[in-house]
Amino acid sequence: MENIYDVLIIGGGPAGLSAGLYASRGKLKTLILEKEKNGGQIVITHQVDNYPGSVESASGPSLTARMVQQAKSFGCEIEKGEVTSFDFADKIKVVNTASKTYKARTVIIATGENPRKMGCPGETKLIGKGVSYCATCDADFFEDFEVFVIGGGDSAIEEAIYLTKFARKVTIVHRRQGFRCTMTALEKAKENPKIEFLLDTVVEEVKGDGILESIVFKNKITGEITEYFADEEDGTFGCFVFIGSVPQTEVFKDVIECDESGYFTAGESTETNVEGVFVAGDCRKKEVRQVVTATGDGCTAAVMAERYISRSF
Ligand code: NAP
Repeated sequence: MENIYDVLIIGGGPAGLSAGLYASRGKLKTLILEKEKNGGQIVITHQVDNYPGSVESASGPSLTARMVQQAKSFGCEIEKGEVTSFDFADKIKVVNTASKTYKARTVIIATGENPRKMGCPGETKLIGKGVSYCATCDADFFEDFEVFVIGGGDSAIEEAIYLTKFARKVTIVHRRQGFRCTMTALEKAKENPKIEFLLDTVVEEVKGDGILESIVFKNKITGEITEYFADEEDGTFGCFVFIGSVPQTEVFKDVIECDESGYFTAGESTETNVEGVFVAGDCRKKEVRQVVTATGDGCTAAVMAERYISRSF
């Protein structure tokens, strides 16, 4: 007999895992397809303090592991695979990865976001060689080194504070004077003796031959260009970039409605312009992107998928 899933979930972050938990607990045949690691953006978060129940401030990876275990305990299947193409035209939806074809009555897209890149010369070639988007993953490479953190939102400030546990000095580089992060986080950073601020400044270029050796800054007010070189003894330093995220909706955007920034325009119901296709989590247009709002979306999408199946099949 042909293997048709009731619910095929694309993306194994908090939204996808919650959808998987709800759908499989509702006795729907459910599969989560994840292209990289389960957990999405929270796996690059060293500490999650504000997810209800994570009283002892879970790490992103440990919270993810518990979500995976819970979804699997109800029979949710999880496979690795990146969606390369799909066909949502018929009642049974078809989703293809490079090696396999999947069929499902409903699809929940929970593809989340990816870290935004600075887009300056040198960035791509120095990723993993001094340039990083994940303090949890890379902080310990910079034990007693100098580190720059780019950005002025909650991620930049919180991760800068975390990085002070490793680096001997952390400089937060932000493009203006005002910060987007919460006052509490900013106060904490200002009180930290290892943290300095370089404001009204952007990164023009990162340079290095196989490893990050220098960084070129531009002052946005004066136009002045300065270059910071790695300490001779260290030979390198860290550049951690936290300048927001971009939605991972590219593959779907010609079929599923998105706004000008690429976020799916589906509302609270998570229903899209295609019957039987729902979207959940950070890839959806919304005011607040938090683990708790993503898991809420996952629940809604699974319940909506269940209702759609019972009235349409
Ligand atoms: P964000 O709030 O969008 O902040 C991005 C920062 O990067 C802003 O300061 C922005 O500057 C700067 N920026 C953007 N593009 C840039 C560029 N090309 N060059 C230089 N700087 C650039 O992103 P986020 O910090 O990742 O946070 C995302 C969401 O998650 C937010 O809603 C945040 O509150 C939430 N979050 C919450 C927690 C928590 O609750 N504990 C922790 C982390 C994140 P401007 O300010 O000038 O635009």
